[in-house]
Amino acid sequence: MSKGILLVLSGPSGSGKGTILGEYSKDHPLYFSVSNTTRAPRPGEIDGVHYHFISREEFENKIAAGGMLEYAQYCDNYYGTPRDKVEEQTAKGVNVMLDIETQGAMNVRASCPEAVLCFVVPPSMEVLRHRLTRRGTEDEETVNKRLAQALNEIRLIDRYDFVVINDALEDAVADFAEIVAISQAAASGTLSPEQQAQLTQMKEKSAALKATVKKEFLL
Ligand code: 5GP
Repeated sequence: MSKGILLVLSGPSGSGKGTILGEYSKDHPLYFSVSNTTRAPRPGEIDGVHYHFISREEFENKIAAGGMLEYAQYCDNYYGTPRDKVEEQTAKGVNVMLDIETQGAMNVRASCPEAVLCFVVPPSMEVLRHRLTRRGTEDEETVNKRLAQALNEIRLIDRYDFVVINDALEDAVADFAEIVAISQAAASGTLSPEQQAQLTQMKEKSAALKATVKKEFLL
């Protein structure tokens, strides 16, 4: 049995990563890693489902004990991936998904070079701002902080294997599904010549999207 692949999905808050994952996982088996965080729960968030909400002290103890596969500080809070569950699931052949920000993704890249890194972006700056404001769960200062953070994250887009533009949700989910399927075949060494051609095409498409995204958000 081949090991499950480790998929990393990053993208600014408001990029719609969570929605893509929610849709994708309706039809595809996937283990979602539940992160630890020191931020306060938003209304409707459930401890153990959306995050394990823990104190700074607990978080720092876990880091010291080597229990975090990766972690990062984001907007004044710690976020991190518990190592044990990820290793247990990939060993069982299950694909594991991490929804994490860019610093954490770079740490995963360094410690697990075989991980597949995928970056999700909204179609424009205007849409990003609109999505962040519409959520209505954060005050203006937090929204502005998250916008600034979004631009910092987009600066790292070249370090990702694939890019998905989340404009029409259905298309974004289909693109993501294709990335996972081909990456899985590549990891198990079973790529057909057609899939090899598809992989090359997907990489070319992502390279073109990176250039477009940098123009839209960073110039
Ligand atoms: P939010 O506060 O909006 O839930 O998450 C803020 C950011 O932290 C998002 O970009 C999310 O992907 C990221 N994040 C969530 N869990 C983790 C984690 O375990 N590690 C890292 N590095 N980032 C995480």
